[in-house]
Amino acid sequence: MHKIKTRFAPSPTGYLHVGNIRTALYSWLYSKHNNGEFILRIEDTDFERSTQVHINSILEVMRWLNLNWDKGPYYQTKRFDRYHEVMNNMLIAGTAYKCYCSKERLNNLRKEQISKNKKPHYDGYCRNQSYNNILNKPYVLRFCNPKQGSVVFVDQIRGPIKFNNLELDDLIICRADGSPTYNFCVVIDDWDMKITHVIRGEDHINNTPRQINILKALGAPIPIYAHVSMILDSDNKKLSKSHGAMNIMQYRNDGYLPEALLNYLVRLGWSYGNKEIFNRKEMINYFSLDRITKSASIFNMNKLLWLNHYYINSLPAEYIVTHLKWHIEQLGINTQNGPNLTNLITLLGKRCNTLKEIAHSCYYFYQDFIVLNTNIAKKYFPQTARLPLETIRKKLETIKIWTSKNIYKEIKTTSIELNIKIEKICMPLRVAITGINKSPSIDSILYYVGQNRSLKRIDKALIYINKYVK
Ligand code: GLU
Ligand code: ZN
Repeated sequence: MHKIKTRFAPSPTGYLHVGNIRTALYSWLYSKHNNGEFILRIEDTDFERSTQVHINSILEVMRWLNLNWDKGPYYQTKRFDRYHEVMNNMLIAGTAYKCYCSKERLNNLRKEQISKNKKPHYDGYCRNQSYNNILNKPYVLRFCNPKQGSVVFVDQIRGPIKFNNLELDDLIICRADGSPTYNFCVVIDDWDMKITHVIRGEDHINNTPRQINILKALGAPIPIYAHVSMILDSDNKKLSKSHGAMNIMQYRNDGYLPEALLNYLVRLGWSYGNKEIFNRKEMINYFSLDRITKSASIFNMNKLLWLNHYYINSLPAEYIVTHLKWHIEQLGINTQNGPNLTNLITLLGKRCNTLKEIAHSCYYFYQDFIVLNTNIAKKYFPQTARLPLETIRKKLETIKIWTSKNIYKEIKTTSIELNIKIEKICMPLRVAITGINKSPSIDSILYYVGQNRSLKRIDKALIYINKYVK
């Protein structure tokens, strides 16, 4: 058997969304599972709508998700010579012909067909004419679609699909300006790149018989097709921008790990028993086309969040940090003069669902806050907070070896000495050190903030109480 080759062939006319990426992932997994090749092809023939910004974004997404490609990226706009070579051969072989029909004629034809309740289609007027002597009139190239019989292909997800050739037009393969059309380029590329399996969105099912007919006319092998269904919002509608349809890089910005997104997407439309968690290796090992579902999938943000939380807390902290750093940089936090980020993953990971949340909880380890939030200060710094804060400050100052254990011991003794609940010390202390009223255990926080810094922050809180609290 020859090598399995799959491809991901996005058009750079927009940003990639979860639907695109799930298809890319399935394509990638299928090639990896079979020790094959995965090809990245940019279908940029739509001059008006394709942009460099979208191309860059596609590459950025693929790199972020680590969906590495073996060949490419190929660009269709760089392959025009090849497309024209094939077109010329088709003209010679008689599988394509020049169509000189004017817009006017085609419009009238259309109107007439509609008035007779017929589906509009090209009537093949130029197909059997010999126009060799007409040289100066603009023309398009049309493919000689077979007039009889039907095209059948066995979709790996949906089973056999049949199209009657009578329903298929003589497709335009080259426009009057010499630019090849979409379906034609796909065919030549799949042929030249020796694609064995075309895994793509179900919106391309109607293109498949047209592409198969051209492949047949060229004597090219027909790949195996698998059309993946749609992803819908929880209200069963097409994905909206605010949900899944957003640019994939937005998931990075929102603090998701690539592992979580890939795990989420692989299960959205494919299953392997009841298994929910798949690392990369497992995905590759277990993946097969016959376990992909035919029905549309419903996007569920909460499950994605759950997976993200799971991965934040189960992948090595050193690895999480490589992704967390990006968020830290976005916030302009300088981590030079504070604890190692790796330690914070263990501390904050359990309380956070996203890296963005972790990054936003990092400030107080690295930066002293200049102003206290007045609402919080009013609530947590009553007069009665003065004595606990003063007492614990003195005790913290005496600690020789700064460990969370020793810190906790001093908090405990303070509570016994003053005969107050431990909370009465911890809450004002927490607010003094972090500036906010929620944080992981206070002894760990103090430990990572450091002795000197902690003392200074308590002093600030005391100044506040002395000055403003009557
Ligand atoms: N360029 C097409 C798209 O982005 C994909 C074509 C294909 O996979 O055959 O929808
Ligand atoms: Zn014509």
